[in-house]
Amino acid sequence: MRTQVGIVGAGPAGLTLARLLERTGIESVVLEDRTRDYAEQRIRAGVLEQGTVELLRDAGVAERLDREGIVHGGIHLQFDGERHHVPLSQLAGGRSIVIYGQTEVVKDLIAARLESALPLLFETAVESVDPERGVIRHAGGELECDVIAGCDGFHGVCRGSVPDGVLQIFEREYPFGWLGILAEVAPSSDELVYAHHERGFALLSLRSPERSRYYVQCDPADVAEDWPDNRVWDELRARTALDGWTLEEGPVLEKGVTPMRSFVTEPMQHGRLFLVGDAAHIVPPTGAKGLNLAVADARTLAEALVEWYGGGGRDHLDAYSETCLRRVWRAEQFSYWMTSMLHRTGDDPFEQRLQLSQLRYVTSSEAAATSLAENYVGLTTMA
Ligand SMILES: Cc1cc2nc3c(=O)[nH]c(=O)nc-3n(C[C@H](O)[C@H](O)[C@H](O)COP(=O)(O)OP(=O)(O)OC[C@H]3O[C@@H](n4cnc5c(N)ncnc54)[C@H](O)[C@@H]3O)c2cc1C
Repeated sequence: MRTQVGIVGAGPAGLTLARLLERTGIESVVLEDRTRDYAEQRIRAGVLEQGTVELLRDAGVAERLDREGIVHGGIHLQFDGERHHVPLSQLAGGRSIVIYGQTEVVKDLIAARLESALPLLFETAVESVDPERGVIRHAGGELECDVIAGCDGFHGVCRGSVPDGVLQIFEREYPFGWLGILAEVAPSSDELVYAHHERGFALLSLRSPERSRYYVQCDPADVAEDWPDNRVWDELRARTALDGWTLEEGPVLEKGVTPMRSFVTEPMQHGRLFLVGDAAHIVPPTGAKGLNLAVADARTLAEALVEWYGGGGRDHLDAYSETCLRRVWRAEQFSYWMTSMLHRTGDDPFEQRLQLSQLRYVTSSEAAATSLAENYVGLTTMA
């Protein structure tokens, strides 16, 4: 079998890339380890930057997103028993974020791919790739490609196929994780609440008008069974308590622990292989950047491929890694900063005083709040 672009992984990165290539007539085959059902049900991110929404719209896959996505113009930061509103849109030139689950983005992209009757092979685990020859090996055989897009996430095989000594890894592990729940209850807050508390961080988010997505900082070694529902609700209530406000509870539909990690691979390309999304970088979810970065990488690669196949040379293809890494490191710094400001990192009172001082600054200085806002909604200069 032969194709122009072999795409390993049908997550947001692989599916977005496939869609963008389809729109410009470039052939691709997508190979995905899991079943369609599994790929569509995997609960993860839910905050889309405006740039991500615009890209999905341009790609013709935003009809449901425009109907069901919930536009938010701000977030709340809570600390010292007070909740402060950060008016993101007002501070960031009218740009906003849209709440729409990653599950829904993936469903829309899969539906579009299948409707176009283009190859998307589920339950096809890639065993290895050859970055020099452009060959993808899987149980069913080999796929020869001009280019391999390694969109197979952090635990995929593509990054590991690059010869030793080529990639430089930058990494930071955090001494905490997030216990997340999806609950069948209307969100108790109109916008996201990021809460700094002496018991640890908490985040009130949502997926729809009927479903809330809530998180509490936990030990990274915890498993979901350590957190019976009543313990989760007790902690959420304690960490987000506010006079005159009540956290509504509902049935817990899903529960899981997410480790917190910062990770960057440099460069993001070798030979015919291009790493896209989580395969190349991970951010802690505090800045809501993982999915947005994956989509931005896909766009950068698609644009470079269009130029190359169109006879315009390979300058942009050669510069793929450099172009992506500018945005990636900005998101890494922002995510690290948000994480460090909001989580309990131990019993060090000095650290806690610094966090509170930073939170007071961000909620009282327009300059500081603007910096948070433009990073949160996505910097247009990095586009
Ligand atoms: C538990 C969890 C919770 C998260 N929560 C948030 C959040 O709240 N906010 C946020 O912004 N981000 C969050 N993220 C990050 C965000 O979901 C990711 O950044 C995003 O999914 C990246 O998309 P991707 O396509 O690069 O990778 P993925 O979504 O990981 O997709 C990779 C795909 O490749 C497939 N694959 C892997 N190996 C192979 C193989 N050998 N052969 C074929 N296919 C393969 C996988 O099955 C998968 O479908 C979370 C991530 C995790 C793991």
